[in-house]
Order: sequence, then C-alpha cells, then structure tokens
Amino acid sequence: MSKKRDDKQKNTKLWIYLVSLVVLVILLVGLSIFYLNNKDKEDETTLAYTDLIKEISYGNIEKIEMTVGSTTVKVKQKNVEEEKTSIVPDTESFIGLVQEKVAEGNEIELVQKQKNILTQIPSYIVSFLPTIIMLALFIMIFKMQGLGEKGKVYDDTERKTKVKFDDVAGLDEEKEELVEIVEFLKKPEKFTRMGAKIPKGVLLYGKPGTGKTLIAKAIAGEADVPFISMSGSEFIEMFAGLGASRVRKLFEKARKLAPCIVFIDEIDAIGSRRSSNSGAETENNQTLNQLLVEMDGFSSEETIIVLAATNRPEMLDKALLRPGRFDRQITIPTPDLKGRLEILKIHSADKRISDDVNLESIAEDTAGFTGAELANILNEAAIIATKNKHEDIENNDIEEAVKKVTVGLEKRTRVYSEKDKKLTAYHEAGHAVVSRYLPTQTDVKEVSIIPRGVAGGYTMYKSDEDKYYISKTEMQEKLIALLGGRAAEKLVLDDISTGASNDIEVATKIARDMVTKYGMSDTLGPIDFQGKEPYEMQMFGEDIGDKIGQEVKKLIDTAYCDAISLLQQHRDKLDSIAETLLAKEKINEEDFKKFFN
Ligand code: ADP
Ligand code: MG
Ligand code: ZN
Repeated sequence: MSKKRDDKQKNTKLWIYLVSLVVLVILLVGLSIFYLNNKDKEDETTLAYTDLIKEISYGNIEKIEMTVGSTTVKVKQKNVEEEKTSIVPDTESFIGLVQEKVAEGNEIELVQKQKNILTQIPSYIVSFLPTIIMLALFIMIFKMQGLGEKGKVYDDTERKTKVKFDDVAGLDEEKEELVEIVEFLKKPEKFTRMGAKIPKGVLLYGKPGTGKTLIAKAIAGEADVPFISMSGSEFIEMFAGLGASRVRKLFEKARKLAPCIVFIDEIDAIGSRRSSNSGAETENNQTLNQLLVEMDGFSSEETIIVLAATNRPEMLDKALLRPGRFDRQITIPTPDLKGRLEILKIHSADKRISDDVNLESIAEDTAGFTGAELANILNEAAIIATKNKHEDIENNDIEEAVKKVTVGLEKRTRVYSEKDKKLTAYHEAGHAVVSRYLPTQTDVKEVSIIPRGVAGGYTMYKSDEDKYYISKTEMQEKLIALLGGRAAEKLVLDDISTGASNDIEVATKIARDMVTKYGMSDTLGPIDFQGKEPYEMQMFGEDIGDKIGQEVKKLIDTAYCDAISLLQQHRDKLDSIAETLLAKEKINEEDFKKFFN
C-alpha cells in the first residue's frame, strides 16, 4: 500500500514539474512575442543618437523621457506628433548635456521615470528564461533521481505503521519466528543482559505479493517503532556513486530513530552476486559494500533491525548472508488453502459481501494465488458488483473477478471473423477434450470462445488442491493438454495459427524445467543445469547445450503426437464440442461433462 502512495507522490511531483515547465515555455513564447513586437515598433521610430544630439542642438526637442537604469530614452520633437526612442550610450553625460542646453535657454522638458516594470520584465525574462528552464529541468531530474534531501527516501519513515500481525493472514509459523524480533525491538535490555546478541538482519524470501512488505510493517507496528523503507532498485537508478551515499544516509537516519526497522525491498537489485566488472556492477558493489559496512558498524546498543525482501534468493551475494548480517532467512510461501481463506476473510471484512458468497470455494479455486492477487480479486469483485448494480458483492461477481484477474476482461464487443471463430472453437475444444482423457489433469471448469484480455478464447480448469510435488507423468500430461489446442487446429483445419503462442511458451518452459531442473530426462539424469555460471556448465562438456535441446524437443514432440492421436481417437467429441462453442460461445462444467456420458 505504501508503494502505491509513494508512486502517487512521485506522480504528483512529476506533474507539478511538467505543468510548471509547460507554463514556463508558454511564458517564454508569449513574452518573446510581446518583446519582439515592442522592438518592431521601436525600430520604426528610433532616432540615432547622433541625430538626437543634432536635434537637441538645433532646439528641435521638446521633451525627453528617461527611465532609471535604462539607456533607452523617449524623445518628443517639436512639430512631430509621434514620440521616438533613442539609445543613449552614456546616460550621465547625456543628462549633463541636456542640462547644459536647458541652462543655455533651450526649452527641454527632462523627465526621469522609475523603472517601468512591464516594459522591463520581458527583456529580463527573455534573457533569463533559458537558464530558468535549465534549472527547472535539473531540479526535476534530481528530484526524480531521489536526490532531494527530504525527497521520497524518507517520506513515510517517521510515520509509524499501524499494521499489526492480525492484518497478516496465514503465515502463522513465520509470524511466530518474527515475534522474537518484536521482543528485541521492545525490550533490547532483556536480551543483552543475558548476553544474547540481537539479530541484525532478517531476509524474507518470497514471490511478489506474498506479503513480505506487509509482514515487515507488521513487525514495526507490533513493536511500535518507526519503519524506514527503501527499495533496492531506487539505489541503482541513480547517478554513479550515489547509491552508497544513500545507504549511508538511510542508516544515519535509522541511528537517529533507533529502535527502528530498516526495510530494504528488492535487495537483489543491490546485493546481487559480484561477478563481472561492468560499470553497473561496480556501482552496485559500492552500494552493497556500503550496506555491509553499515550493518557491521552498528553496535548492539543501537537496536536497528534490517529486514530485506527478495524473490530471487539465488541471486544474492553470499557476503550478505554471513553472521552478523542477514543471518536469519525466512521463506514467505504462497498461501495454502487455509491461508487463502484467511486472506479472503481479511480483505472482505471491509466490503459488502452477500450471504451467498462462499469464500471457502473461492479459496479452493485460487490455488497458487498470492495474497496480493486475492486482495485484488475482492477489489475487482467490488467494482464488478457496482457495475452490475448489485446490492452487495455476489458470488458471480467474484467468479468474474477471478477470470478477469487470470485471463483478462471479457471482450464481447470484439468482432472477429467466422474463420477465426471456428479456429478458436477447435483450439479450445482441443485443449478441453485432450485434458478430459488425461488422468492427472484437473476437470474442465469452463470453455469459452469469448475473447478475454489478449486471449481469443480460453479453457479454464478446476484448481488443483495444493500440492507439494508434481510427478513426471503429470508434467508430461500437462504438456499434452497445452498442445491440444495447436493439435486440433492442425488436425481439423490443416493449418495452424499464432493463437497457440502462449501454450507453446508455457509448454517449452515446463519441458526445459523437466530436463534442466527436475532431472526428469533419462539421458541427462538428475543434474541441475539451471542458473549455472558458464564455467560451471563447462564441467559437463561442450555439447551439453545440444543435448538439453534434444531432450526438450523430444518431450515436446512426444506430447504433440499424443495430443494428435487422442484427438483422432475422440474426433466426434472434438467436433460436437467445437460446434456447441460456435453456437453458444461458452460451455460450463456441467454441460461439458454431458458430452462424455
Ligand atoms: P510483497 O512485499 O511480498 O510483494 P506485499 O506485502 O506488498 O507483498 O503485499 C501486497 C498486498 O497484498 C498487501 O498490501 C495486502 O493487501 C495483500 N497481502 C499479501 N499477503 C497478505 C497476507 N498474508 N495477508 C493479508 N494480506 C496480504
Ligand atoms: Mg513488497
Ligand atoms: Zn491454447
């Protein structure tokens, strides 16, 4: 939530700068036009200085009007209606000259005026505007870079968070582990008296949206200490050398506010393994080194606990994990069934939820969803319910929200040709029929050829119960189900389309993981080939890449052949489902089952 607020602040600031820039530019253009116009007028009626002197000595000048600080004078000649202007090189000697003439008996009226703001400003502004604009630009860039001393870095720092452990659903064991940290922050003496060292750093591992920031805030909230946060990516966005100085400032601030929590989000951005020597890397190293220096530096009297979050633990520099640094690591998992239910409960508490809503069944349908996604679903459901003019959020609003979040918004208005429609119908029917005959695959929940998001159609499966392990057979069958769409296109229309690109992408990734991560290929065996440095790969021999490619291809080819033969075997089902889709656009779980009775 604070991220959103930060973004908002960033945006408003940006807007203010943009608007002021636009105003400045308009001013520049307007004023220069004004100024140039004035210039033009002057040009028509100027009197050269030498002519002016001549005219004065002939006694032809009636009145001279001077402005303090300006070399431009207005003169009125006798018998000439129009006033003229003239540039006087040296005003003082000019005044002396005129006064002399007056003393000689010439009747010249000499008027000295104060600066006329209106006529003076344009020339000033015109000459200064480029500088002003440059300055504005610089300030803008600096602010965006986060250089502003009191800028976004410390924006929500002094504020204490109100988040409590109760606001974090599920994660009971993780909370239990962190209660200790809360105790440390509340009563450090209690522990130091015993000779216990207060932990300095806790690393939270977990996918985005699993609640890492939330739980970090909850620790600060429970301990009632300030929460100082910064994101790793903010450190490296900046000009060279500034990352380290910002780390220093962050900890200066922390020392002043201690006891407190320092939260570094996306720590992988600064703490990634120090390997190469590119410019960006060196910059990161300085930042990382500074962070290490700071963490090693504070004594046990300063109760500062550094929490850091990342979803890529394997990227982290090992130096970060040494004792006295981030020596505690807590994995924040994606919520299980119970966790999802609790998250749904927390986020529906402030919403009008109808009695027919069954949060349990929604929790069941959303295996693999993170807390952030679940919160998002309930929010979308509230919006959909409003659009549907429902009294409260109904079950179908939530179901629609789930689909919206997973596949995208239904686009009934998108026109597509009969040919496309047929292709989509067979593609989706292909997925559905194939998976129906694969024992490990979950039941089909809905098949539709109504476009949603970027997809032309979709086949939704019932959600898996939470599983810890996936077997090789299950993965192989998943590949077959994924390729069922492409197989049906080929089989029925004898042509293939781009509609299968996402299926192919997912299938390829699964096949690659099977070979390189889960050791499921017989030829290559149980070896982890993923995320290895080039030198590590060398120990497997030069042609290992080729072998991996061959194995991946074999898995995909086999799956594709299986999909084709399954569809050939059940061609009648494929045809009737595709035809029903063409007629009705959507088939639900019950109707789908009827095809197979
Ligand atoms: P992360 O930092 O891991 O990316 P966040 O802590 O920013 O995730 O979570 C984003 C939002 O998702 C939270 O503000 C909260 O609304 C919701 N959320 C995530 N996990 C939970 C949870 N366990 N309990 C309640 N809400 C959660
Ligand atoms: Mg976060
Ligand atoms: Zn598909």
